[in-house]
Amino acid sequence: MTDTPVIGVLALQGDVREHLIALASADAVARPVRRPEELAEVDGLVIPGGESTTMSKLAVLFGMLEPLRERVAAGMPVYGTCAGMILLADKILDPRSGQETVGGIDMIVRRNAFGRQNESFEAAVEFAGVLGGPVDGVFIRAPWVESVGARAEVVAVHGGHIVAVRQGNALATSFHPELTGDHRVHALFTEMVRSVG
Ligand code: GLN
Repeated sequence: MTDTPVIGVLALQGDVREHLIALASADAVARPVRRPEELAEVDGLVIPGGESTTMSKLAVLFGMLEPLRERVAAGMPVYGTCAGMILLADKILDPRSGQETVGGIDMIVRRNAFGRQNESFEAAVEFAGVLGGPVDGVFIRAPWVESVGARAEVVAVHGGHIVAVRQGNALATSFHPELTGDHRVHALFTEMVRSVG
């Protein structure tokens, strides 16, 4: 791989455009990924925020669920925000019927844990591995992580709840750094992708 990794954004549903912009600012080549052939060509993948049940159903419909599981299991770097975090959880506490996960992080998530859409909020979040002070966490009907297994590392906590987790090449946040203009978390992820190549 060159110094400029190619990072896909799963483009089935959700805030794809914002991630493409954030990744480009973090010195990655960013492109939308909808099909297995497109997934095969990227060095890493972002799973955006949106609605996790819808995204999982579309992943099945587009023949993407198994390819996603395989690549994540094989160690492709992956970063999930909000709904994307839910998709990376090995277990969802309160899944809707037909809701599947890709898995990859040994954690249990609770959907909509921080409340309804109109209870969305922003907060400064200390993030292990991100230098230069706390990140501005935007929480929109956000999940939190109820518990993590031994292989997963908690990298951010807010209000006593786990809001960011890393396990090997997989990273997940309850909140949305792609909406803030501060691209340090995307830079961290780009670095994770670079170090695998
Ligand atoms: N509540 C949404 C879900 O369950 C996630 C919200 C978001 O991604 N902003 O998928």
